[in-house]
Amino acid sequence: MKRYPFLSLADTNAPYLERMKEAAARVIDSGRYIGGPEVERFEKHLAETVQVPHAVGVANGLDALRLILRAYIHLGRLQPGDEVLVPANTYIATFLAISDAGLKPIPVEPSPVTMNIDSTLIEDAVTSKTRAIMPVHLYGRVAWDETMADVVKRHDLLVIEDNAQAIGARATVPGLNGHFPTGSLGHAAAFSFYPTKNIGALGDAGAVTTADPALAATVRALANYGSDRRYHNIMQGFNSRLDPIQAAILDVKLDYLDLENAARFDRAVAYSNNITNPAVGLPLMSSMPTDCVWHQYVITVDPARRDKIRQLLLDRGVETDIHYAVPPHLQPCYAAEFAGVQLPVTERLVNSIISLPIGPGTPITDIVEISHIINVTI
Ligand SMILES: *Cc1c(COP(=O)(O)O)cnc(C)c1O
Repeated sequence: MKRYPFLSLADTNAPYLERMKEAAARVIDSGRYIGGPEVERFEKHLAETVQVPHAVGVANGLDALRLILRAYIHLGRLQPGDEVLVPANTYIATFLAISDAGLKPIPVEPSPVTMNIDSTLIEDAVTSKTRAIMPVHLYGRVAWDETMADVVKRHDLLVIEDNAQAIGARATVPGLNGHFPTGSLGHAAAFSFYPTKNIGALGDAGAVTTADPALAATVRALANYGSDRRYHNIMQGFNSRLDPIQAAILDVKLDYLDLENAARFDRAVAYSNNITNPAVGLPLMSSMPTDCVWHQYVITVDPARRDKIRQLLLDRGVETDIHYAVPPHLQPCYAAEFAGVQLPVTERLVNSIISLPIGPGTPITDIVEISHIINVTI
């Protein structure tokens, strides 16, 4: 029986293997293994791609979020105890970063249509302690819209984008012409280059982007022991630097960002055109191809049958996944903080979703075959 892997990183990286090996060898031969020109080149490349003045490489996506929040605390823009609005159905990293900084995550229900934070519910969640919002461009879909922009402006909220899943996506911005990259929409943004992300390293890596020079400098210092120059510590920082081998590898892959995202879009279109089973809910097809960079292609089914359906698909060789099966507020580590909190939209959604195989290297013929399996199996 043919098997359809959920994601083959070997296939994803195959087109770039030689250039990636050359890049890694260059760092090995250079004798420079912390910071240096490879990290600087990648930071500049990322800043240009995201159309922001500053990009700071860090160790991973969670650290990128943590460092932004801690930097804002250092700069007096946030205080411990302040509330930060987050989508309830995000990956737990978003919540953990907020808690780690001594801030309070306030979950807001998603729209079942976009699966992003429901911007019409944001205003009701704002209290006198709300200082920031952390939109997550979930599954690669832009979460920023006019309603959110309006609430943010009227309540003077900091906007910290969790852009771990949507590098290369673009949004329209109220009052401005054109389409602007995710990562440039708010005051600061966190990127993850975890190997499965749309631009993946061969290990852990992350970055922060911002137009604010003070924030960029503070994040950079915090990520390097809180030192602004050698052996001079202005803050009690951490070690969260971007590895130059990963930077060199990411610099290669970043050249192909739009090509890779276009390949993902073609695969999403192939699913949406070929899945005809009325028992399956399809993700919203974007009006602009860059509204969503299809980090995941997520269908919905009857929650009572979801696990059975996954097994039937697996029996036909189709590997699937769930992003994410248990939302943060129901995780054991948050049991006390969110005791009694009910988020019915999130709780129903997480039991309805199935992520299908999608990657820039997934053959379109596989997408068509998986669609037919879905049509006859579910
Ligand atoms: C992957 C991810 C992160 C964390 O990134 P790491 O590099 O794994 O630390 C944060 N937020 C979201 C939405 C993610 O998908």
